[in-house]
Formats: sequence, structure tokens, C-alpha cells
Amino acid sequence: MLNAKNLSLAVVIGQLLVTLVAAVLWLMNEDDRALFVFTVGIALMTASALYVGKLLTEEERNLEERLAARDFRYRQTLELLPEGVVILGENNRIEWVNSAARKHLELTNRHVGLDFFDCVGHHDLKRWMAKRRFDDSFLLQLEENKLVLEVSVVSPDIRHTLLVTRDVTEKRRLEDMRRDFVANVSHELRTPLTVIAGFLDYANEEMPSSVREHQVGLMREQTARMRNLTDDLLMLAKLENKDDQKLDEPEIILMSRLVEDVWREGKALSAGRHVLDCRCERIGLIGFPDEIRCACLNLVSNAVRYTPEGGRITLEWKRQGTGAAFVVTDTGIGIAPEHIPRLTERFFRVDKSRARATGGTGLGLAIVKHILRRNHGELRVKSTPGAGSAFAFYFKEAQIVSTVND
Ligand code: ADP
Repeated sequence: MLNAKNLSLAVVIGQLLVTLVAAVLWLMNEDDRALFVFTVGIALMTASALYVGKLLTEEERNLEERLAARDFRYRQTLELLPEGVVILGENNRIEWVNSAARKHLELTNRHVGLDFFDCVGHHDLKRWMAKRRFDDSFLLQLEENKLVLEVSVVSPDIRHTLLVTRDVTEKRRLEDMRRDFVANVSHELRTPLTVIAGFLDYANEEMPSSVREHQVGLMREQTARMRNLTDDLLMLAKLENKDDQKLDEPEIILMSRLVEDVWREGKALSAGRHVLDCRCERIGLIGFPDEIRCACLNLVSNAVRYTPEGGRITLEWKRQGTGAAFVVTDTGIGIAPEHIPRLTERFFRVDKSRARATGGTGLGLAIVKHILRRNHGELRVKSTPGAGSAFAFYFKEAQIVSTVND
């Protein structure tokens, strides 16, 4: 290819030949003209060699600049990845870390050049990397920032190792929740099934009628529990399906009528053991009526179950700020503050034996939470152990209709 460098090289070679010929002629004839050509040739060759040298240095610099620009572009792309990337050089020295890896592994630019394992200090990871079997990934649980990272390693050459970290904390949490959920369902169904199976074993033998009555009573109780549990599980599954399909359209709910219906059901559940009051303002709510009804009934049923006989339960539907709230206040057993954030977890109960004895499934508030999410409401709980609780659904202005005709 004809370029400045090749042309200059050709000129230098030409000059060399001419200078050599001049040198031979001068040696043979001691011709002054040959000496002149030889001297000029040497001078020109020196100048050309300096020029070619300069061209070569420039080319080298250009190449270096191009490589640096490409390197910068690659690092910029790696910098934006959601996965963490750490480039390790010889002896596991940190050469470069992207921002996700800095966050994942709590590294900073000050760690560059240091031994990776001195900075991260995880012996199991070190042992795993030393084996150099990189087909599988390594699960790294970090104590300090409570992250769970999936670490994969690519070793492009002997001297470099590329570490990729992916944050799987949320994925693991969901897997744990699903596993706990299955374990809880199995556990919940086991007791009723044991009671029923026990009776069936016994039923074959001679059984006095008083025993039979007692056993049948137990069986009824336990089958009712199992039915409640399966109903609640189905309700949760239905709500989750509805989330996926998004078919229904919300409507304007006449809340005063709905709350009064729930109040009547609450009185039936209480069977005269509590005083139940109801106060409603004429405000409409935009939502799914069956779901809102189910959520309200859940709060009232909890108030009845967790309030000792003689207590007072109040249902209110009222303005709150620019929005509106459905509030159930009771004078029941109350809840300690540390339990409040966990109330909507599936199968969470403050007192397991008490909740079971009152016929609870442990899924009521999980259903409520799901319904509120679908209906753009928020659950707020205030409670004092031994004094009572107030459970409220709060809806923003956009969800309410100021005046409605019954
Ligand atoms: P459960 O079916 O066990 O009542 P929920 O999901 O409805 O399940 O409620 C979860 C837990 O919250 C209950 O087991 C109970 O410990 C507590 N809880 C709910 N409502 C009240 C209340 N009004 N007063 C006291 N504790 C309550």
C-alpha cells in the first residue's frame, strides 16, 4: 500500500543504493564528484531516516490512542451493566470495577491494585475460585449489606479473570417465601386431617354415643377450618389471576350501604358479645365492590375475634385529609409494635394458638393487602397491647366520589 511511511522507506532505500554506488566509484577512481554524491547521499539518508522515525512514532501513538478510545468505550458499556464486573490481574489484583460491582461488593477506586480477597475477604469464594471450575456460579451471601450475589467467573487468559456479580437477593427472598408458604399450607392442613383420620380409625370400633358426639363435633370444627383455609387460598389465587388479566372495570361503590351490611354481619359474628357501632359519611368509592366488601369484613371479623367479651367495636367511613378512610376501632387485645410490619405476611400470627382457636387462617390480612393494592388503597394500623387497635383503609382523593345518592 502506498502511504507516507512506505514512500519514505522507498526513498531511503533509493538513497542508500545511490550512496553505495557513489562510495564504490569514489573508492575506485577517487573521483571528487562521486565523493560529493556520497556526502549528499549520507546527509539525505540521515534526514529521511529521522523523518521515517517520526512517522513510525506518530503511527504508534495513533494506534495507542485508538486502543485507549476502544478500551474506554468498552469500560463505559460495562459501567452501565446492571451486573457487577470486576477485572482481576495477576495475583488477583483488582484492575477495574464497574459501578454495580462497587455497590455489590462495597469496593471503591482506592481498592484498585489491591488483592481482591483482602478487600472482599470471603474465604469460601476464594476456595471456589482456586478450584477454577467456572461452569457453575457461586452464591455469595454478604453479612454487611445483606445482599445475596450470584458470582460467575470468566477467565479469558492466564493473567486475567473477569468476575460477574448478579444481585439475586429479591429472587431468593421470593423463593424462600414460596417455600415457607407451601410448608405452612401443609402444616395447616395436617392438624384437621389428623383429627379426622383419628376418628375414622376409632369409628370402626365400638364407640359410646357420648364419645361419638364429641368426635363428630371435632371433625366438623376441623373440616370448617380446612374449608376456610382452602377458601382463603382460592381467594388469593383468584386475586393474583385478576392481577394478570386486568379484565374488570372498577365501579362507584355506595360505601355507606356496603359498610352497613358489613356491620350487620359483624353483629352476627359477635352474637351479642360486643357493642358494635357504625358511622358513615355519604362518600362513594371507586373500586371493585366484592373485593372491598371482603376486605372490610376481614377487619370486622378480626376485631370481633381479638376483642374479649364486653368490648366495643366501631366501624367508620369518613373523610380523611383530601381522601377517605374506612376505620375499624376495637378495645381488644392489641398488637405489640414489632409485630405490626409483619401482619400482612401469609400465615403470620402474633399468637398462633389463639388465632387458630378463633378460627383464623392467617391469610386474612394478606388478602386485605392484595385487595387494597388492586383498589389503590393503603392499610394503616395503630395498636396498643392490652388497649385495642385501629385498622384503617385509606383511599386518595382520586379514588373517591364526594356525594353519592343511595
Ligand atoms: P388470622 O386469620 O390469624 O386472624 P389475619 O391475617 O387476619 O389472620 O391476622 C393476622 C394476625 O394479626 C392475627 O393472627 C392476629 O395476631 C393479628 N390481628 C389482626 N387483627 C387484629 C386485631 N383487631 N386485634 C389484635 N390482633 C389482630
